[in-house]
Amino acid sequence: MVQKGLLIVLSGPSGAGKGTVCKALMPHVTDNTKLSVSCTTRNPREGEIEGVNYFFKSKDEFRQLIEEDQMLEWAEVYGNYYGTPRRYVEETLVKGHNVFLEIEMQGALQVRKKFPDCVLIFLVPPSLDELKSRILGRGSETEETFNLRFGAAADEMKYISQYDYVVVNDQVETAVEKVRAIMQAELCSVARN
Ligand code: 5GP
Repeated sequence: MVQKGLLIVLSGPSGAGKGTVCKALMPHVTDNTKLSVSCTTRNPREGEIEGVNYFFKSKDEFRQLIEEDQMLEWAEVYGNYYGTPRRYVEETLVKGHNVFLEIEMQGALQVRKKFPDCVLIFLVPPSLDELKSRILGRGSETEETFNLRFGAAADEMKYISQYDYVVVNDQVETAVEKVRAIMQAELCSVARN
């Protein structure tokens, strides 16, 4: 496949604030940057909308999508499947649009294998204490899911060396500015033009 648009992957440990940064970033990107909507088998949270936040699937439906090679990448996270629909990403890149993915790290590394020119951004929380309060602050975690997410996040820091950029999310506005600057620099790079 000829990749004409830029594929940007925002990833990082649970609680780094990927979702918040992504939401704050989207109004500031140009019309030709599209956010990919993932599939998941987890239940919708209050206020989440089918096709906007996620495509909500049963586990059987998700396994079928994997079998049909419809997932660009997928991962099992805390007992649920999450994945990026392949066709949307490929068709959007071929049109020359940029695609933005907000996904966890196992998936990000699968994307790198399929799209070596993608840009991997690692978002990190400013400290483990801050990470703890962010995970708890969501209000949707039980003690069990908190322990899982907090433990996994600390372990996930080991992936950092496989990324192109690291952004510390101490303040959302600053993190958004940095991600925008990275995108602009990548779009201007001689290698891409
Ligand atoms: P949440 O349940 O909080 O929406 O997401 C849990 C984790 O799954 C987050 O780290 C999020 O970035 C990740 N995630 C969301 N969509 C995808 C996806 O399509 N693929 C992968 N690999 N991870 C995803």
